[in-house]
Amino acid sequence: MTSNLDFMHGVKSLKNIDVAGKRVLIRVDFNVPVDSHNNITDDRRIRSALPSINYCIDHNACSITLVTHFGRPKGQYDEKYSLKHVRKRLERLLNKKVEFIEDFEASKGEIATCSLERVFLLENIRFREGEKQNDTELSKKLGSICDVFVNDAFGTSHRKHASTYGVTEYVDTKVAGFLMIKEIEAFSKALLNPTRPIALVVGGAKISSKITLLKAVLQKIDKLIIGGAMSNTFLKALGYDMQNSLYEEDFIDTARDVLDLARKNSVKIYLPVDVVITDSTEHSVDVKVVPSQDILEGFQAVDIGPATVKLFSEAIGLSNTIIWNGPMGIYEIDKFSKGTFKIANAIADSYVYTIVGGGDTADAVDKASEAENFSFISTGGGASLELLEGKILPGFENLDRMDT
Ligand code: ADP
Ligand code: MG
Repeated sequence: MTSNLDFMHGVKSLKNIDVAGKRVLIRVDFNVPVDSHNNITDDRRIRSALPSINYCIDHNACSITLVTHFGRPKGQYDEKYSLKHVRKRLERLLNKKVEFIEDFEASKGEIATCSLERVFLLENIRFREGEKQNDTELSKKLGSICDVFVNDAFGTSHRKHASTYGVTEYVDTKVAGFLMIKEIEAFSKALLNPTRPIALVVGGAKISSKITLLKAVLQKIDKLIIGGAMSNTFLKALGYDMQNSLYEEDFIDTARDVLDLARKNSVKIYLPVDVVITDSTEHSVDVKVVPSQDILEGFQAVDIGPATVKLFSEAIGLSNTIIWNGPMGIYEIDKFSKGTFKIANAIADSYVYTIVGGGDTADAVDKASEAENFSFISTGGGASLELLEGKILPGFENLDRMDT
C-alpha cells in the first residue's frame, strides 16, 4: 500500500519542467510571525521560498509572480495585513528588486512583458473574498496570469483555497516547488519506517484547528505530550477548574475523545502536573507555580511548571523520533517562556530525529538558540499535522505527476 507521503512524493517538481520564457506563478507561504509593531520576528518562510524563486530567475523565466496570504483579514483590504513590509524583506533576501502589485488583473500586461526576468509580489490574496472559498472566478483569474503554476506554500497546502487548489484547474503545467519536496522528504524520514517510540509534543493556541487532528494521529505515535493552551482544554476535560486560562469550551468533548482513544490505542498521554499562573498577562503582579488542579481564582495558566518540564523531558529523552508543534506557554513574554525553552533544549539534546512545525514553535526554537540542533524545521504547522494524520494534502493533489 502506498502511503500519502509516497503519493505526494510522486509529483513533478520545478526541476522536471522548462520555465524559460514562461510566466511563472509561485504560491508561496509568506505568512510570517510579526510582533505588535508588525516587525517580522522570523523570516524562515521567506528564506525557504528562495530556492524556487532563484531557480526560475536562473532558468530565464519570463516573469515570476509570487502570491501568498498573510494573517487573517476578512476578505477585504486591511492595512494591517498588507504585504508591503514583507516585500522589503524579500528584496533584501533575494538581493533583487521586487515589484508590488495591488491589483493583478490590471497588471496582467506588465507580467507578460517578458523584457527582463522580473519578480512581482501580489498584495495579500486573502483581501479577496474568493480566496478562502476556492472561488472559480478568482482561480480562473489567477490561472490567466501564468503559463506555469508552482505550489511552494507547504504551510498552506492543507487548505483548498483558490491560490493553492482552485487555480490548478486553469493552468496546463503545475508542479511543486523545492520547499514542498523538501518537507515531504523530511516527514517521510520520520514517518515511513520510523525509529520508535515516536513522541508528538503539541501545544500552542490554535486549539480548534489542531485538536481534531489528534484523533487520527494517535494511530501513528506512541506518546502524546500536551502543553500550552492546548493542554488547558484537556485539563478542563479532566474536570479541573481552569479559571481564566485560555481553552476552548467547544472542544472539551473532543479532548475527552482523544484521551479515551489514546487509552484504547495504548498511546501514553502526558499532561502538565504543574503550571505557571498569573493574574494578568499584560500587567502581571502575581506569578506563581501551582499544581494543575489548584489554579487560583481569577488566574490563568500561561506556561508549564518545573515538575512538568521534568516529566516531559524524561518522556522526550526516552523517544527515538520527536515531532513538536506548538509552544508550551506564552513564550513571547519572558516570564512565561521558560517551559517552552526548556522543552526546546530537551528535544534538541535528544540526538534523535527531531522535527518542529508551526510558525511560532519555529520562532521559539530560534529564540532558544537551538535551531541548528533540530533535524528539520518545517514551515507548516497544521499542514504537518495533517501529514501525520495520513492525509494527502490538497496542495499536492492536482499537481502533474512523474508517472503520467
Ligand atoms: P504555531 O504557530 O507553532 O502553530 P500556535 O499558533 O498554535 O503555534 O500557538 C502559538 C501561540 O500560543 C503563541 O502566541 C503563544 O503565546 C500561545 N500560547 C501558548 N500557550 C498559551 C497559554 N497557556 N495561554 C495563552 N496562550 C498560549
Ligand atoms: Mg501561530
